[in-house]
Formats: sequence, C-alpha cells, structure tokens
Amino acid sequence: MSLTEAAYSAAGLAELQRMSSRFAPTEIHVDTSHLSSGDRAALQDLIRAARILDDVFMEQLWSGNRPLLAKLKQDHSELGRARLPYFWLNKGPWSDLDGHTAFLPDVPPRKPLGANFYPEDMSKAEFESWVKTLPPDKQKEAEGFFTVIRRDHGKLTMDPYSQAYHALLDQCAALLRQAAGHTANATLKRFLTLRADAFHSNDYYASDVAWMDLDSPLDVTIGPYETYNDELFGYKAAFEAYVNLRDEAESAKVKFFANHLQEMENNLPMDPKFRNPKIGALAPIAVVNQVYCAGDAAHGVQTAAYNLPNDERVVQEKGAKRVMLRNVQEAKFKTILGPIAGHVLRASARDSLDFDAFFTHILAHELSHGIGPQQITVNGRQTSPRKELKDLYSTVEEAKADVTGLYMLQYLNDRQYLKIDERRLYTTYLASSFRTLRFGLKEAHGKGMAIQFNFLADHGAFVHHDGRYDVDLAKIKTAVRDLDHQLLTIEATGDYAAAERMMETLGVIRPEQQKTIDSLTDVPVDIAPVFITANQVIGTGVSQP
Ligand code: ZN
Repeated sequence: MSLTEAAYSAAGLAELQRMSSRFAPTEIHVDTSHLSSGDRAALQDLIRAARILDDVFMEQLWSGNRPLLAKLKQDHSELGRARLPYFWLNKGPWSDLDGHTAFLPDVPPRKPLGANFYPEDMSKAEFESWVKTLPPDKQKEAEGFFTVIRRDHGKLTMDPYSQAYHALLDQCAALLRQAAGHTANATLKRFLTLRADAFHSNDYYASDVAWMDLDSPLDVTIGPYETYNDELFGYKAAFEAYVNLRDEAESAKVKFFANHLQEMENNLPMDPKFRNPKIGALAPIAVVNQVYCAGDAAHGVQTAAYNLPNDERVVQEKGAKRVMLRNVQEAKFKTILGPIAGHVLRASARDSLDFDAFFTHILAHELSHGIGPQQITVNGRQTSPRKELKDLYSTVEEAKADVTGLYMLQYLNDRQYLKIDERRLYTTYLASSFRTLRFGLKEAHGKGMAIQFNFLADHGAFVHHDGRYDVDLAKIKTAVRDLDHQLLTIEATGDYAAAERMMETLGVIRPEQQKTIDSLTDVPVDIAPVFITANQVIGTGVSQP
C-alpha cells in the first residue's frame, strides 16, 4: 500500500506510533532566575498570548482544524489518545514529515495548497484574473502578507487579518499591552505596544522596526511572519510566537567574534587580492533560550534559528536579524546527535562529543557568511558569487561557511584569543556531519556537507574502521585550510565550472558512508518539545493541547 493510500484510510494505531516515535519528547528548560519581577510577570502574559496564536494558526491552516481538535480531545479510546498528540505536533491532521499527507480520516488527503488563506475551490488562474480587476493599492493587499481571500456569493473578496481573526487577536493584543505594562525595558514596551496596535490596524511596519531595535533580557517574536504554508503563491503570513530569554554569555561571544571579523577576512586562506579591506556591517545575531513557541513555530521539525522580518521595506531600512535558539539546539544535540555519535564515532572518540564546541561552530558558521567574497569582478564585470554560481551558490556558500567557521576558530585558538579543545571541535563536527547527511543531498546543506566530508576523508583527516569514524588531528587543520582555499577561490572567481566539478566528484554519498547512514534508522528525526519552564511559569501543561 502506498503512503497516499495509507493516508486515505487513515493511519492505524501501530502506524501512528511509528510516525510519532520519530519525534523524541525532550524537555526545554530555561534559567529565569535573573529576570526582574516585572519581566517575570510579563513572561506569564507573553506565554498566554503565544498560546492564543496556536488557535489562530490552526484556523489559518484549515477551516476544519479547531472543530477536529475539539473532537479529538473527547475521544478517549486508545486510537484517539494516540491521534491527539500527533495532531498537536503537526497542528493539523496532515503529517509534516510525510509530505503533508493525512493521518486522520474524513479530512482532505493532503493539506490544501492554499491552506485556509484562500477558498478551497479557488484556482490560481481565478485569483490572478480577479487581482487584475482591482485598483493598484487593492492588488497589493490581495497579494500581500496580511489578508485572507474569501468567496462571497460566488465572487472573491478579501479580509484583513485584523478582521478575519479579530476575536483571537483582540485577546492576544490585550495580553501584549498587559506585558508592556509590566516590563521596565523601554524597547520591549515599545515593541509590544506597537505589535498590539498592529493586530488592530493590520499595519505591521512600525512594530517590525521596533522588533529590530529590541534589546531586552526578555526577547519575543510574535505575529504573522513566514509564508511557507501558502503553497499556492507564498504570499500569506502565518501567525507564530517565540518567547525567549536572551543568553548573555553567548551574546558576548558573538560580539567577540564580530570584533575580530575584519581580522579574519584579512587572514582568509585565499589570494590576498580577493580580500575585502572593509567588510560590510554585520547583520545582528541574537542568541536566546526558548521558553515557549506557538503556531507556525510549533509544528513538525522544531525551528532552531530564524531570520526575520520578511517585509522588504523593513529589511532595506533596518536589515534583518538572526535569532538562534541555543537551548533548542542543545535539546536536539542531546536527543539526536548523542545517539548518532554512538553509531558513527569510534568508541575512543565518543568522549569528545561536546555541545559547547557544536554551538560555537554554529556561531562561527553564521558569522562566516559575512566574510569572504561578496562583490567580485569577472572579466571586468561587477557581479557577485550568487549571480555567477547560480543554482550551485547555496551549496558552495553553506560549505564555505562551515569550513571558514572551523578555520576561524582554529585561527582564534592559535593566537590564544580563545581557548578551544581541538579534538572536541573536530570530532563533534565529524559526528554532526552525519546529522545532515542522513537527510540526503536534495538540499544545499546536505550536498555542501558531502563535499566537506569526502574532501576531508580523501585527505586523511577523517579515518574509518568498520564503518566508524575518527579525526586525524595531525591532518585536519591543513585539509580544512586547503578546502577553504578552494571554496573561497570558486566564489572569488565566480567559477561555475569548478563548482560543478566539485559537486560531481565530492557532492555524493559513497557506499561506505551509506552503510553508516543506514545504521541510523532508529535515531529520532527531531524532538517533541516539553516546555518545562513555561509550565512552571504559568502553572499548567502548556505542552499539551
Ligand atoms: Zn548557513
């Protein structure tokens, strides 16, 4: 029976248990002891506000979603009790990991492409020809982030989110204002107040700007943001919330890296003529720990980092911010990378698996996107690596960020700016490469990782015995520098043919790696978060529906 047929007849108990078991329940903790009493009170309001967006998001996904959830809660049979948590994990009756196919009966066999942003019976062509009949400002709204399209007496109409979801958004706005009253932090007060206004006015611009300026121990992202759930056009933003606390120690580490970034650029392993004497301003990076997430942020594979806002006007004026969820990364590390390391590392190497090394390398990766070739000259033409490398750019750039990140940490360590345990750094990096490789080569990160893995193996930096790997510390530093040289030079010269050759020879999974990957089938795909701190703060089970 194919997956689609299985979905049509709904997943049975054993099938549901198998699907659920891919997500390992993992506790999410945050230390709140340093919060002021005002921020502590605000935190309660913000978790409650976030919970309301779970309802708004389910409404956005499908009109039948909230009645179905209510029905599931009444079903105390064994099957019903298995269905409810998997529904909650997906925020609907379609399984994110299985191409959004249905696991419950009496629902569309697949998540509607336009979700509930458009009438289910509307075609793309109908929308497009309707939009042409509208005046220009209305066209913009119809194709904008913050309206839903409905059918009235057969004709298409649109409603602003402020109207479509006004009952829930009113409750949410009231809690944001209440939280703004509790906090003494001016930037948080401003963001919360403006965001509450936006829920009524449907104009998110001022509050997006205020979010970029947020500088507060209590860090929150709440509102309509990503457009992935609109698979018809990618226009409509889904509601989500992240309630976070700033990680002061890691934020200081980011600042330290940023202060050394020009020095790193000046020492990159590429021809000095490609180096940029004055690198551009860095996009801000916030490192936080998550207390709670909701809505679009809380289904399927858990988000461990995000870039926002998406509104081009705000991005042009203020740039975008990257938020990294350190404790979510740590939860995934323990639950997923721990068991992976057990399968892929030689026994003697397993002690060297280390979350701190893992996270520091992720930070270095992010900062590395800001150095290396950005504006280049090819045959006298001003251009960019992205324009020249086209479809191969993301793969090259992701590999470059990984490898430059390693190179950067080694450089800082060698000059005693920073103390790094080399064995832990490279061994953790080796184990984590399988975390990426196990999902195949369809996506830029996977292919970029295959390139790194094969290059380092070919240069004797990764060695294996009976399918288990270890790092050769004497060889890996030179190998990393050589690979970085190749990647940076491909970008600096915009050499598409060289990138293509690299993909063909190195961007593959070889039989011996495949064998190791095949041993990982019992490792969970992701975590199912259990929000322990959020439960403690508001005194109820916020992880449950
Ligand atoms: Zn990246």
